Amino acid sequence: MSSLKSLKGIGPASLKNLKEAGIFSPDDLLYYYPRAYDYRDKLNKLAEVYSSTGTGVNLNTICYVTDFSYFGYGPKKTLKVAVSDDSAEGSLVCFGRNFLRNAFREGEKYFISGTFSLRFGEIQCSNFEFEPYSESPVNFMKIIPVYPLTGELTMGFLKKIIHQAIEVRGKYLENIIPDTLLEKNSLLSRPDAVKNIHFPENREILDKAVRTIKYEEFFLFQKSMLDLKKEKEARSRKERKLKRTLQEKTIISLPFKLTEDQIKAVEEIYIDGNSSLPMSRILQGDVGCGKTIVGFLSALPYIESGYQTAFMAPTELLAKQHLESASRLFSGTDIKIAFISGKLPESKKKLVREALEKGEIDLIIGTHSLLSEPVKFKNLGFAIVDEQHKFGVAQRSALTGKGDETDFLMMTATPIPRTLQMTFFGDISISTIRSMPAGRGLIKTHTVLQENIQKVYDWVGREIENGFQAYFVYPLVEESEHLNLKNAESMYAHLEKDIFPEYKCALLHSRVPEEEKEAVMSGFSKGEIKILAATSVVEVGIDVPKATCMVIEHAERFGLTALHQLRGRIGRSSYPSYTFLVFTSEMTEDAKARLRIIKDTTDGFKIAEEDLRLRGPGDITGLRQSGFADFRLADIIEDQVILEKAREDAIEFYS
Ligand code: ADP
Ligand code: MG
Repeated sequence: MSSLKSLKGIGPASLKNLKEAGIFSPDDLLYYYPRAYDYRDKLNKLAEVYSSTGTGVNLNTICYVTDFSYFGYGPKKTLKVAVSDDSAEGSLVCFGRNFLRNAFREGEKYFISGTFSLRFGEIQCSNFEFEPYSESPVNFMKIIPVYPLTGELTMGFLKKIIHQAIEVRGKYLENIIPDTLLEKNSLLSRPDAVKNIHFPENREILDKAVRTIKYEEFFLFQKSMLDLKKEKEARSRKERKLKRTLQEKTIISLPFKLTEDQIKAVEEIYIDGNSSLPMSRILQGDVGCGKTIVGFLSALPYIESGYQTAFMAPTELLAKQHLESASRLFSGTDIKIAFISGKLPESKKKLVREALEKGEIDLIIGTHSLLSEPVKFKNLGFAIVDEQHKFGVAQRSALTGKGDETDFLMMTATPIPRTLQMTFFGDISISTIRSMPAGRGLIKTHTVLQENIQKVYDWVGREIENGFQAYFVYPLVEESEHLNLKNAESMYAHLEKDIFPEYKCALLHSRVPEEEKEAVMSGFSKGEIKILAATSVVEVGIDVPKATCMVIEHAERFGLTALHQLRGRIGRSSYPSYTFLVFTSEMTEDAKARLRIIKDTTDGFKIAEEDLRLRGPGDITGLRQSGFADFRLADIIEDQVILEKAREDAIEFYS
């Protein structure tokens, strides 16, 4: 590979600028695609301004310069260049650019491009580019690429070196897509596609170039997905029949009836457990739909058949809560349950690890401590990761790596939109819980302007009087010099002292010591503590049926998923519940859109789709960390048609 220095016009300064933009070689330049195009391939007439209805119209014209004049005085003195074509006359207003006087010559012809409008009775343009007329102009009579600019990179410089890079490197590019598919989809060869995406010969070829490169990105991605699948198939094991007496018994003894979707999920997982391919399955379902019980029930066939199960949760609090539920659920059995987390004293950890390695533990519940290297299993048959999006891809696979042919279940309350499902999870099966358990009360969501917070306090006060409880969530733990936002610590003091002096309040955030956290959570679930002032640590998993109010202050600072998860903390009983999204008047358009969506729907699937639309796929599924969504040009939402095509073709070609 050649170096950037081999290109003309690159010194130390521009080398540094390019580096900052992530460009390290001429080949990187080839993939630095334009973000838009300036279509100067067709000529206009000045007179088109008369027939335009908008405030301004983009024109590419050829004009004669007819005169120069000035208006204004002193520093405001401004040059006006009179121009004309055979259709009309106009003026180029040179605000702050009087030096252009010497760039034009009276009676000469120029290409001029800019936004023209009718002002003060004449056709004017103040923001224009120009070039002396010639048979082969540099920046006119063609489609001009518009590059994303970062740091000190300029458009002219980028155009020049990208042009060079194509001259030097372009001919070495080889087709990635098989010729038959190029032909079938009437796509361009790779060298032609790259050349025309930067410097298109015409609109038709540009369109083809764009399609080719998007197709190529999707095609390559699909190929890597297929490779993954083959790899997985190579790891196949013997078919088996896991015992399920314990599972059946436990289901019958539950204090509630499983929903149909829960039963179906349990069934799907059981079938996978018997199959010759290790399972990778996502269990998706909205907050509160009852995924935990599905996980526990699914562990039983493994345990009964002599395999161990690991259940990993993203926080200590949640892991503890799962431990309690499991202990309750399995109290009538002889299943041996253990717990591990970073907070456990080393001596205890050691005991747990030894027992685990000897196979004396059937079910271990814990935090990411489960991943630490000394943790070894005798025979890990089933691994469950709760709130999987809170973990990176590497972490998730580190857990299954602790067993041979371990079946893997990932649980998530942020459902995966259909587009992503097909594209990225080709080798992962999905179980979905759509319905909520019967007897859940309605959640009402209100948006409240910060100035009206007293109304919220009044409402919450009445709820507490009636025996219910409330969460108050703030964006910060403690006061910050830099951010003028409410924080959990001082608001806790304020709520307890000034607003609700007759009730017990408590504080919960990531820096509260572990024992205190536990005491707080247990006090809150018993109903002794009425008000919990917290940060978004309560976002994940916590389950307190009598908490009916969720007040989120500075709601505009939270993402869609976080808001939805926070709201999922309430509405866990048959009582009506209330979410108050308290916002300040200065909000971005995106923030407004987020609050509107949360107010309008409680459907987690819809919210996930909107989230995807508002900020791209990245964070939803941990895709960004995986490098999966690293498409430069293609967009998995907008380019679905190309995506489908590339997917079909790749599957056909490689199977
Ligand atoms: P999530 O899917 O958000 O993890 P959980 O598993 O925490 O939800 O379940 C929320 C609550 O619903 C728990 O208290 C659980 O016991 C209860 N639950 C689960 N399934 C049912 C059901 N079929 N009927 C009634 N309650 C259920
Ligand atoms: Mg959960």
